[in-house]
Amino acid sequence: MAKKYQLIVVGGGPAGLTAGLYSARAGFTVLLIEKEVIGGQIANAERVDNYPGFPKGISGFELVQLIQQQAMNHGLETMSGEVTGLTSRYGNNMVITTEGDFIAQAVIIAGGLQFRKLEVLGENEFMGRGVSYCATCDGPLFRDKTVAVIGGGDTALTDALSLSKFASLVKVIHRRNQLRASKVLQGKARADPKIEFIWDSVVTEVKGEKKSPI
Ligand SMILES: Cc1cc2nc3c(=O)[nH]c(=O)nc-3n(C[C@H](O)[C@H](O)[C@H](O)COP(=O)(O)OP(=O)(O)OC[C@H]3O[C@@H](n4cnc5c(N)ncnc54)[C@H](O)[C@@H]3O)c2cc1C
Repeated sequence: MAKKYQLIVVGGGPAGLTAGLYSARAGFTVLLIEKEVIGGQIANAERVDNYPGFPKGISGFELVQLIQQQAMNHGLETMSGEVTGLTSRYGNNMVITTEGDFIAQAVIIAGGLQFRKLEVLGENEFMGRGVSYCATCDGPLFRDKTVAVIGGGDTALTDALSLSKFASLVKVIHRRNQLRASKVLQGKARADPKIEFIWDSVVTEVKGEKKSPI
């Protein structure tokens, strides 16, 4: 007989852990299922500066450990496994996982997202230590540094413009000699003295000496 919960949360990133914390604290029986390591993407962040309550910042790993502890103190149960299917059976939700099936009155899916990677050497090694996929999150970490933005679409130029507020120089590396970004963004980026374009260039590797270029 499959074990029954009032709520099952799929995904143990910040969203899933927060859902688990609130619902366990409200007195529901809650199981959170995570297919990798609890913490999600933020566990890879060397320093999180924008989470309230930590004036000196905190490592992403430490932050999610604290959130997990807080949620478990309120009764959240966690499990390692991948949710591979959801079905409805006898009026209940059946949650199918690699570790067996579970029944839940309600299911919250907090599966997050995955960034589109370049898939080049060194990219994973330096993720969170200089390689970032979120200019808004990590821009302040690059204050007074030279930063490269890879791409030539709207996202690349929006990020370049946002980074130029912090960085000393932003190099936009694009594999073609023309940008796909909207004309308005192109105009703004070309007029920004801190933004430089490197055309017809494809990134093949990310290198560093200390595993921490920041
Ligand atoms: C290097 C780095 C640095 C960052 N720095 C910051 C920062 O400083 N400040 C900031 O605000 N944001 C930052 N971010 C962004 C932040 O991490 C994300 O916005 C946040 O993690 C999203 O949380 P989430 O819970 O929605 O999803 P995720 O963190 O993506 O978590 C989703 C979880 O669901 C799991 N999952 C997915 N499918 C299944 C399944 N079928 N079964 C079981 N589990 C499943 C995944 O394994 C994952 O652990 C950073 C991101 C990265 C990568």
